[in-house]
Amino acid sequence: MTRRGAFRVSVAKDYLVFASAHFITFAGHRCEGLHGHNYRASVTVEGALDQEAWFVYDFTILKRVMKGLCDEIDHKVLLPLQNPKVQVVEDGDMVTVAYEGKPRYVFPRRDCALLPIPNTTVEMLAQMLTERLHAELQTMGAKGLTAIEMEVEENFGQSAVYRVALP
Ligand SMILES: [Zn+2]
Repeated sequence: MTRRGAFRVSVAKDYLVFASAHFITFAGHRCEGLHGHNYRASVTVEGALDQEAWFVYDFTILKRVMKGLCDEIDHKVLLPLQNPKVQVVEDGDMVTVAYEGKPRYVFPRRDCALLPIPNTTVEMLAQMLTERLHAELQTMGAKGLTAIEMEVEENFGQSAVYRVALP
């Protein structure tokens, strides 16, 4: 059977959620107050068929990895480590957060997710989850994957999608 079509598989489950607090900064001097979302992630993976199993990737593994990534940031305060206007400092078992040099919050360290992103927008969360997923799949020896597309929804009908072609 010779066909020229391409395959992709998607996982969008009710348990791929993270209920987290955040705030984002805008251009200029505007910064949101702390609030939360019930975020939802879904992912599509594109690639060649596994020649023994005839699938792009094992759903069981994909679901488990995605659940793990969501659990890492579930029930946390999401804090950006690369935002020049937001100073996040670990101080023992506490984290202090300042905005443009003015102290704003103190959180228990265990309740925070310190993230290597410049702003906790759904765009940056989608990109971060894509990179985390790609790293996990590589560690597990995934082969033949050509692209990952991640959607993160922060509210009904309000989401960002990040897609990356894999080398
Ligand atoms: Zn928000």
